[in-house]
Amino acid sequence: MSTIVQKFGGTSVGSTERIKRMADRVIQEKEKGHDVVVVVSAMGKTTDALVKLVSDITSEPSKREMDMLLSTGEQVTISLLTMALQQQGLEAISFTGWQAGIQTDSVLGNAHIQSIDTKRIRNELNHGKVVVVAGFQGVTEDGDISTLGRGGSDITAAALASALKADRCDIYTDVDGVYTSDPRFVPKASKITSLSYEDMQNLASMGAGVLHPRAVKHAKKFGIPLYIKSSFEKGRGTKIHGKAKQIGSSPVIGVTFEKDINRVEMFDCEDVEGFRKALMCELASRHIQADVYTQGCRNILSLLIKEQDLQEVLFILENKKDRWKYSRIEQRSSLSKVSAIGQNMKAQPEIKIGMCKMLLENAVRVKLVGESSISVTAVIEKTHIQTALECLHSGFGLDYEDKMKASV
Ligand code: ASP
Ligand code: MG
Repeated sequence: MSTIVQKFGGTSVGSTERIKRMADRVIQEKEKGHDVVVVVSAMGKTTDALVKLVSDITSEPSKREMDMLLSTGEQVTISLLTMALQQQGLEAISFTGWQAGIQTDSVLGNAHIQSIDTKRIRNELNHGKVVVVAGFQGVTEDGDISTLGRGGSDITAAALASALKADRCDIYTDVDGVYTSDPRFVPKASKITSLSYEDMQNLASMGAGVLHPRAVKHAKKFGIPLYIKSSFEKGRGTKIHGKAKQIGSSPVIGVTFEKDINRVEMFDCEDVEGFRKALMCELASRHIQADVYTQGCRNILSLLIKEQDLQEVLFILENKKDRWKYSRIEQRSSLSKVSAIGQNMKAQPEIKIGMCKMLLENAVRVKLVGESSISVTAVIEKTHIQTALECLHSGFGLDYEDKMKASV
C-alpha cells in the first residue's frame, strides 16, 4: 500500500475551524486508500507567543527548558487534529517526536535528526490508523526533548517521508507553491511548477522561507517527491524532484533575501586566520550558519549572522576573548542580504557585475558582495530591500510577463 506524508504549517492549523478543514484533507487521502502520516506545526503564532513568555522571566533561558517549552505548541495541534479525525469516524492516533521514534543530536534549539525508528508508526498504520506526529521536535540520546530550529516541522515531514519510504510528501502552507521571489515583496514573482532538489535547496538555504533547507536534504536522500501546496486553494503547487536543469532563459532561477542580518567585527586580532578557523569550527558544532571573512591587512575578522543567532555568537566571542586575542568588538544591525540563485555562478562573472550595476542604478548602496557556486549575494541596508528585490527580479528577466513572453 502507498504511504503519503502530509504536513500542515502554522497558518493552516491556526484555528479550530482550520484544523477541521485540514482534517478533511487527511480524510480525502485516506479514502483514496493511502496510509497517511500527518505532521503538524504549532497553531498560528503559538511558538512566537511562547518565546515572548520567556522574556518576562529571563533573558538567559537554559536551552533544555526552552525546548521543553517550545515543543508544547505542536503537542496542542496533534491532539486537536486527532480528535477532529476521530470525530469524523476515522481511527487516528497522535505521537510526540519521541513517541514517533525521532532521535536527534544534542544541539538543543537547533538539533539535527539522526535516526527515526518507524516501528511504532508502522504498527499503527498497519492497524489502519492515521498517525499524527508533532513536527519540529525529537529526543536526544540522553532522553531530553529537543527542537529542530524555527520552521523545523518541514524537516520532520521530509525525514519521516524518507524513513517510511513514502510515495510523496505534501507540504501544505499559506502560499500555493515556490515563487521566483517572495510575492509579498515582488508582486511580479512567478510560480515555479517543477524544481530540482538542488535548486530548491539553494533557494531555501539563501532565504526562501517557503521550505526549510534541511527538509530538502532528507527528501533528496531517498528521492521522495515533495509537493508545496496551498492549504486554502486548489491548484497544482510546486513539485520538487529530480536533477537540476535550466528552468528558463535566465541563468538566475530566483532572487531571495534574508531580512535581519547582523555584522560583527573583531579588531586587532593576533592571528586572524587561526581565529577564523577556530570560530568556524565552534559555530559549526552549534549548527550556526555564518559568513566569516578576514580583512587580513587590518587584522579584522568579520562575521555576518542572522539576528536570531546574535546573542549566542556574542556569548561565544566574549567567553573566548582571552584565547582568540582581539582588542574589541563592533556590531552593526539593520542589514539584509539579497541573493541571485542559480548554478555555476562563479563561472559567470557577468551576473555579479550586472547585480552591482542594477543595485547602483537604483540607488541601493552595496556594502559587500560575495559569491559561491550557487549564489551572488549583496549585503545592503534593510530599508532598501524592496527596491533591491524588485530591480534584480526584473533585471534578471524573472518578472511574470517576461517569463510568459519567453515561453511562447
Ligand atoms: N512551530 C515551529 C516554529 O514556529 C516549527 C514550525 O512551525 O515549523 O518555528
Ligand atoms: Mg515554514
